[in-house]
Amino acid sequence: MNALPSRWRLDGQTCLVTGASRGIGLACARELAGLGAQPLLVARDETQLQTVCDELREDFPACDARVFAADVNDPEDRLAIFDWIADLDVPLSLLVNNAGGNIQKATLEYEPGDLEAVFRLNSVSAFDLCRLAHPRLAQHGHAAIVNVGSVSGLTHVRTGIAYGMSKAALHQMTRNLACEWAEDGIRVNAVTPWYIRTRRTDQALSDPDYLDEVLERTPMARIGEPEEVAAAVTFLCLPAASYITGQLLAVDGGFLHYGF
Ligand code: NAD
Repeated sequence: MNALPSRWRLDGQTCLVTGASRGIGLACARELAGLGAQPLLVARDETQLQTVCDELREDFPACDARVFAADVNDPEDRLAIFDWIADLDVPLSLLVNNAGGNIQKATLEYEPGDLEAVFRLNSVSAFDLCRLAHPRLAQHGHAAIVNVGSVSGLTHVRTGIAYGMSKAALHQMTRNLACEWAEDGIRVNAVTPWYIRTRRTDQALSDPDYLDEVLERTPMARIGEPEEVAAAVTFLCLPAASYITGQLLAVDGGFLHYGF
């Protein structure tokens, strides 16, 4: 018998993943389900979510995935997510704040409201979801939050200033909550990916010159896959990571350390 010790499993844990209908969020839901967690999947497109749910149930027969269509930008929808969880009556132990987005412009081209819109999606929604999740996570006693940040919150990249600023806020929220909620049995960490192949990066990476530039600046000379981010997120959720909190784990093929 070569079973993994239980600290490398998530059996009996329930995990809320936002932005779970595709890309990194979907990969996280699959990885978490593969290790025994029950995923609660949130995104805006109900039909796509249901397809994901059916696939998960087929691929992982023990997986009792549930879906809820919601826009995490909308405060009412955020409350509705937690009403739904209350109705499900499941002991929530894991939260992955993955939903995110961008309005990419040069700094002087931003319109009134653009900066706020990016902050609302990337920082404020995650802040609110953490606060709404807190009572259930604290009740569990060995809970974890993982926020999906970005290298753009740590150094200049060409995503535009609003995205970088909003991800930097998410990173600092991670550190603050880690300290504030340690006594409640809640670990809080983040991952900081560089370019990952998803629908939101497809267009930029389909330009061969741009792709070459990206690869030249990446020591591992390739684009990351959603599953590689999901593996890091899942590690931070595991009991095996029980003494790790307040950390930003780069999933970047070496990008952040590659000076000239
Ligand atoms: P994606 O566009 O492929 O998927 C985004 C998911 O989030 C989708 O399921 C979408 O429905 C959901 N979503 C977006 N806005 C939402 C909202 N308001 N309410 C509910 N759901 C919403 O994106 P991705 O590339 O998988 O990115 C996921 C996260 O990873 C984002 O936070 C992004 O900033 C971060 N990230 C991505 C990369 C990359 O290169 N792909 C790099 C660094 C960080």
